[in-house]
Amino acid sequence: MKILVHACCAHCLAETLAGLEEVKKKEWEPVVRWCNPNIHPLIEWRRRLKAVKMLCERAKLLLLADETYGLRDFLHALDGTYGAGDRCRICYALRLGDAARTAKEAGIPLFTTTLITSVHQDHAAIRAAGEKAGKENGVSFVYRDLRGVEDVDAKLVFSLYKQQYCGCVFSEEERFAPTTTHLYPPRPGLPRADSP
Ligand code: SF4
Repeated sequence: MKILVHACCAHCLAETLAGLEEVKKKEWEPVVRWCNPNIHPLIEWRRRLKAVKMLCERAKLLLLADETYGLRDFLHALDGTYGAGDRCRICYALRLGDAARTAKEAGIPLFTTTLITSVHQDHAAIRAAGEKAGKENGVSFVYRDLRGVEDVDAKLVFSLYKQQYCGCVFSEEERFAPTTTHLYPPRPGLPRADSP
């Protein structure tokens, strides 16, 4: 049986593939979906898409990619809801709604998302959004708590880009606002550039 796997990035995709027992036993055949209007800016979106493409090539997985950069669609969907929490629930609904519709159109009965590997995401909200989208489209959302999956196939993700923040411009601000150390990476033998 096929399962559509919405992928936000290569590393979370590898964890999802490693965490789903049915995939490991080859009972489920994953088909990967890339549709992430929440990832900004454009260069970051391209880097993550490229990494997902490379992983799918390595794993010989079919990739159904929406290669439209969705900044404006995402901001339109938020409609001024910029605070974390409500913003993320809109984001989940946007992406899982797409995944459910894509699964339905492709005749794939099951779908899930790589978001279920993240310790930073709201799992209850992901599950609610996935089940709602599944119900609306006549496909089944598969939820598993895959936080802490360790037996990832290192060959699949070797040298692939790994992001530093969740995706949207708001999450980028939340990630980096409390620190400036990323501007001044330590260099051996030299004092830190941001030292007093
Ligand atoms: S923080 Fe992540 S889940 Fe929340 S809105 Fe931004 S990209 Fe979406």
